[in-house]
Amino acid sequence: MHPAARRVADLPATIFAEMSALAVRTGSVNLGQGFPDSEGPPEVIAAAVDALRGGHNQYPPGIGIPALRQAIARHQQRHYGIELDPDTQVLVTTGCTEAIAGAILGLVDPGDEVIVLEPYYDSYPAMIAFAGGVRRAVTLRAPGFRLDPDELEAAVGPRTKLILLNTPHNPTGRVLDAEELAAVARVARERDLLVVTDEVYEHLTFDGHAHVPIATLPGMEERTLTLSSAGKSYSVTGWKVGWATGPAELVSAVMGAKQWLTYTSGAPLQPAVAVALDEHGEFPYRLCQELQARRDQLVGGLRAAGLTSYSPQGTYFATTDVSELGWASGRDFCRALPERAGVVAIPTEVFYDHPDAPGSGRRLVRWAFCKDAAVIDEAVRRLAEADLTA
Ligand SMILES: *Cc1c(COP(=O)(O)O)cnc(C)c1O
Repeated sequence: MHPAARRVADLPATIFAEMSALAVRTGSVNLGQGFPDSEGPPEVIAAAVDALRGGHNQYPPGIGIPALRQAIARHQQRHYGIELDPDTQVLVTTGCTEAIAGAILGLVDPGDEVIVLEPYYDSYPAMIAFAGGVRRAVTLRAPGFRLDPDELEAAVGPRTKLILLNTPHNPTGRVLDAEELAAVARVARERDLLVVTDEVYEHLTFDGHAHVPIATLPGMEERTLTLSSAGKSYSVTGWKVGWATGPAELVSAVMGAKQWLTYTSGAPLQPAVAVALDEHGEFPYRLCQELQARRDQLVGGLRAAGLTSYSPQGTYFATTDVSELGWASGRDFCRALPERAGVVAIPTEVFYDHPDAPGSGRRLVRWAFCKDAAVIDEAVRRLAEADLTA
């Protein structure tokens, strides 16, 4: 018997399950999955406890509680000058993951094409497949991971419905600059496309690289759906509280899908995330300073271990190229690494449609640095002592 439906069985198993199992089996330091070692603001956690004890335990409104929708609207106004009606232009979701699912299921018809940047976040291809859409990947090439406007333009066809953007970008750590954003905006306007933009790392940028939401570019507000989440900004990745914002028409399309997925999202966490956004706006900045130090610690250690390493402009992740150590595949490297060094990392090649194109992902490996300094120290020490050659 083959019980799984094709839409599920046809998808590759997530790399994180394999690599996390390997980490446990070998007692390795796990720099694979991107979740932080540290906790979110204690007052925010206390607000969740208060909500649990204070009777916030039944279905909240499907669109999200008013206090959180208002806090999200204020956040977009304060940081980016984006004006939103919290009653029609803000939807609370079960993490950004559900916002992505809702956006794709709510906006993409079978046969519609969706442009993604590769390497991509792994839920994008899964959701595009569930919707019966067709993905067209535009490659961010090492070492600079810049978006080539000509390649973007060439990926647009008569069936293209939307561009699914992600900046700051997981896993390359690129923060798209003004020129790249302008190119995306120009293509979207000229070819009348929607843009769905995943901005979960909006506050996690380094060295003065500023995140600019594409919704703020001329002519983009009316065609952009912006997605984000509390998980990365407030070190509460297990809470799964996210949101979609933008034109009422687009938000209501996401709502149309969301109501049949989860209908509504965790009641007691919503007031707590409102407290985080309204009262703890400084938290992501402190987190970011801490992360920048961890980035330098990890990238320095990777380089000392002989790995060609690209220092990211944002996010939790650094990338290395393992080819100079004689490896033809990052996957082979990552499978050998736990035995060789007692460290786990993720092969970036699984996030590409074209892993063998020039500057593409076959030889790239992703390392998470949202970990305690002592954990990174230990990983770096183990890497320095190991033989990492193929
Ligand atoms: C972590 C992550 C998400 C998922 O966010 P949740 O709020 O945990 O669902 C979405 N997109 C990217 C790029 C991520 O790294």
